[in-house]
Parts: sequence; structure tokens; C-alpha cells
Amino acid sequence: MKIPFFDLAPAAKDVEDSITQALERVRRSNFLILGPEVERFEADFASYCETSNCVGVSNGLDALFLILKGLGIGPGDEVIVPSNTFLASWLAVSHCGATPVPVEPNDSTYNIDTTKIEEAITGRTRAVIVVHLYGRVADMEPILQLADHYALAVIEDAAQAHGARYRGRRVGSLGTAAAFSFYPTKNLGALGDAGAITTNNGDLAARIRRLRNYGFQQRYVASEIGWNHRLDEIQAAVLSAKLPWLDRWNMSRRRVSSDYYKYLEGLEDIFLPVKALTDDHVWHLFVIRTKFRDRLESYLKNHGVDVLTHYPIPPHLQEAYAHAALKRKSFTKTERLSSEILSLPMYPYLSVQSVEFISTLIREFA
Ligand SMILES: *Cc1c(COP(=O)(O)O)cnc(C)c1O
Repeated sequence: MKIPFFDLAPAAKDVEDSITQALERVRRSNFLILGPEVERFEADFASYCETSNCVGVSNGLDALFLILKGLGIGPGDEVIVPSNTFLASWLAVSHCGATPVPVEPNDSTYNIDTTKIEEAITGRTRAVIVVHLYGRVADMEPILQLADHYALAVIEDAAQAHGARYRGRRVGSLGTAAAFSFYPTKNLGALGDAGAITTNNGDLAARIRRLRNYGFQQRYVASEIGWNHRLDEIQAAVLSAKLPWLDRWNMSRRRVSSDYYKYLEGLEDIFLPVKALTDDHVWHLFVIRTKFRDRLESYLKNHGVDVLTHYPIPPHLQEAYAHAALKRKSFTKTERLSSEILSLPMYPYLSVQSVEFISTLIREFA
């Protein structure tokens, strides 16, 4: 038995016809950039996220970057970021000329430790980027309270959490603005690169709309210096075809995760994700933790099960951030996690038999 880490094919069957129609519609439309498909997807995704605005953009990193730019964040400013995250959450801050200020994760959720944020706030802090890592919503309430008290923006990096809910409310609507990625393997994926921003702040949305398109206020009239970070019509049409299936695919991911719990609970030295009791987790990844990670990784790979680590090198240890002198600070929890975590195969319609097979291997290993 060979099990890939991720397989797009089973969910692609659900939308085969609607995607073919969408592609054909765009091809015949003669309207390929910022047309009706982008408008329609923006309306659909805003309504799905329960926000008043959505702006389609080129990818998740550009979404984060445009939010920061839209908020006027730049050189001299500091933005609090999780130390335990994908590099892009930091890159967006660096591209603005601002400084990412990392905060260590909570032991049980791996998301930013909300009790450690306040000590990282300085007179230069402008915003907090909250990442809903692996599809699990960060504990927003204490973050929003702090942000309120210190007048900070709260930016959700929702690239791994499309459709998740926090106390009943959708991810994307919880802070000042949210960045989504539709990279093909995300919970909602395009047929290439794509991203979006959701926000209830109409002025911010309007500014971001200009910034994604050269800073144009109207055609060929630029009110400020912008970029080309647009979402194109083909990707928007594909995303509109897939969006109605997102909740079903997330349900399927939940089923896969409960199968993993069923077969893996009770093993010594293998730690499963601590269960989220009330919030809707959307299981972008199923990440286990063990001191014997490297050996387990080889064992599974040798038996045909593809596994990955998210992420093997934390941002502060990347050569790209060597200039930031972060190595001298200790982010021991993040470093330990990066040496102990292992992501098991996870995608909609991963079969019970596959999960059982993977789990049996892990039990044998244990
Ligand atoms: C994927 C991802 C991004 C970047 O999205 P792209 O579309 O690949 O640019 C940012 N943050 C997190 C947490 C991600 O998982």
C-alpha cells in the first residue's frame, strides 16, 4: 500500500463538471482580469466568511502584505508574529520594512501563546498576526482584548483555516482583517496561486483594492504607489465552483482526524493533537509529536506512507533572518516542536483503511 501525503484527485471528482464549465465560461468571456468572476467570488467568499468585504489577490503572502500596507505599517513599526509558523507570516512584515517580533507557542495548541503577547508589546508595536495553525483557531478573545487596550490591529493569517469557527464565528471575521491562501493543497485551493483578504472595514478594503492594482483609484489614475497583486478570472471562477463544497470537505477532514484518534489514542511517547473542545477545527494538517520523530518518519516512508514536517526550520533559524540576531534569543518551544512534529497524510476522502494502515505502522513502531 502506498499513501501519498496529499491527493487532490478524490475531491476534484466532486467539482469536475463545474470546473470544466467555469473554465469554458472564462475562456469564452474575453474578460480575463478583474471582471465578473472575481466580483462574484469576492461576494461569495465575503458571505461565507460573514464579512462585509473580500478582496481577491494573487496569493496568501501578498494578502498578508497588502493588509499591512493597507494599515500603513512600515519602517520603524513592529508586528507581533508567532515564532511557530510558516515563513510567509514573517515575510509579509519584512517586506513592509517593519520588524517581526516573535512570540512562542502554547504547548497544547501550538498556536501563539496568548499569555506571552503582552510582554512583547512596545511603543512601536502596530499589529499582531495570529496564525490559525493546522486549521485550529487561535484563542482570539484574550488577543482581541489586548489589541483593544493597546490599539493594535489584529490580522488573521487564515491560510490554513478556511471555514473554521471560533465560538460560532467564522475565521476571517474575527480581527481587523484576514489573509487567505488558495494554494492548491489548502482547504480551499485554486488551480494555481490565489489568495484573498476579508475584512469588515470598508475603508481598508477600498485601499487594498487600489493597492492590488497599481494604486489606481480609477483607470490610469493612481492615488498612491501600488502593486500588481491581482486575482485572475480563471482562478476566481474555479474557486467559486469549489466554495460550495468547502464545508463538506472540512467535514471529511474531521472524519479522517477522528479515525486517527480512534486508532492512535493511548500510545506512549506519541502525542496526538490536543482536542479542541468547542471550536470548529478544520484539520488542514494532522500533526503528531514524538521524541523519535526522525526514526518514525523513516519508518513510515520506508513502508510507503508519505509524511512531512510543518515546519522543519523555524523562521528565526532561517538564514534569511540571520541579520535579525534572533538566534541569540531563545525560542526553545518552537525549536523543540520543529524536531518532534510529524504531519500524517490528511486530505478529504482519505479512506478509513488508509488511516488504519498508517496507524498500524505507527503502533508497530511504538
Ligand atoms: C500557505 C501559507 C501562507 C502563504 O500562502 P501562499 O498562497 O503560498 O503565498 C501564509 N501563511 C500560512 C500559515 C500558510 O500556510
